[in-house]
Amino acid sequence: MSINKEQIKTALAHVLHPTEKQDLISLDMIQDIIIQDKYITFTLEMPEKNDVLANDLKAKCEGAIKKFIDAEAIVDIQVGINVSKRKKVEDTPQQQAEPQQILPGVKNIIAVASGKGGVGKSTMAVNIASALAKTGAKVGLMDTDIYGPSIPTMFNTFERPNITTQKKLIPVEKHGIKMVSMGFLVDVNQAIVWRGPMATSAIKQFMTEVEWGELDYMVLDLPPGTGDIQLTIVQTVPLSGAVIVSTPQVVALDDVRKGVAMFKKVNVPVLGVIENMSYFVPPDMPEKKYHIFGEGGAKRLAEELNVPVLGEIPLDQPIREAGDNGTPIVIADEEAASAQALIKATENMQNELTRRATEVNSTKKVDIKFRP
Ligand code: ADP
Repeated sequence: MSINKEQIKTALAHVLHPTEKQDLISLDMIQDIIIQDKYITFTLEMPEKNDVLANDLKAKCEGAIKKFIDAEAIVDIQVGINVSKRKKVEDTPQQQAEPQQILPGVKNIIAVASGKGGVGKSTMAVNIASALAKTGAKVGLMDTDIYGPSIPTMFNTFERPNITTQKKLIPVEKHGIKMVSMGFLVDVNQAIVWRGPMATSAIKQFMTEVEWGELDYMVLDLPPGTGDIQLTIVQTVPLSGAVIVSTPQVVALDDVRKGVAMFKKVNVPVLGVIENMSYFVPPDMPEKKYHIFGEGGAKRLAEELNVPVLGEIPLDQPIREAGDNGTPIVIADEEAASAQALIKATENMQNELTRRATEVNSTKKVDIKFRP
């Protein structure tokens, strides 16, 4: 019989908090329970970072699940911070678990997300990373789409990363961007059968067991959708902000709402929306502009959700060809209309990061480099 959330809660109700004298369920310290067969993951929320009780409570939680539910359960517990007890939580962009231990040398971590596949999310992620790298910034790109990694194709790089003597992965480097993708490591068909928790633990290894070094920006290409895997990823990384990619159709915009809601849930600021495939200008009729998928959708939604539109990227052949040929358009042809729009969107994103970093009580230094 499969394990359910109620069983987990009942088991964890046996774990007492040593100082509060109440159990962890009554104290509402257990969040985001995810179960896949014998794999159980959840977040243990502590009031403070590095709470000395965290390891002890984790061990007790695991013990309770093995004792009351299944001795063979595989339990993966993340420690989060109980944001509800903090002041001005909505103003704190980096409030995730132990941020100082995850990617400590990275100044800004930006997630590029979309409600569904095929809207150009990876194309936007690789071009944002490329536009940032062109300014002279140190940039990393992490392909967290375990089931459909596209970074190797988009950079025409399929080499296996080297390993340091400390058994850390050295990112593959192209056009000055350090990158890691599951596509460099395993046969993609193999990854497809992975269960959610296996995928999230692979992502955690990308964070902690890769020699990223010092970076100004880390761009995260999230898997499409707003499900448990995405939620776990955005909770694992101390994100500076998220960029949501959408096409102009109403149905795609509904997905944006879900994306914004997901980031709000974990208090990650949404830096803005990029509307991709916004319009088409026929190369032989440059005076014409066609809104193939509708017009103004992202703007209206952005107003409704109170997030800016960072850019409107045209549908064009060069961007698609550049992606297929393995050189992002902002590197292959900076003058292309789509490249210009992407560079502008990236600058808007940087401005939004700066604005937020100065307005909110950020815990991390934000170092912005603008194009000359
Ligand atoms: P996702 O990551 O959302 O699944 P991709 O970035 O892989 O989407 O893009 C899907 C396909 O659409 C790719 O072939 C890509 O080159 C193409 N594409 C993305 N944006 C545009 C655009 N603005 N104009 C033309 N083709 C595009």
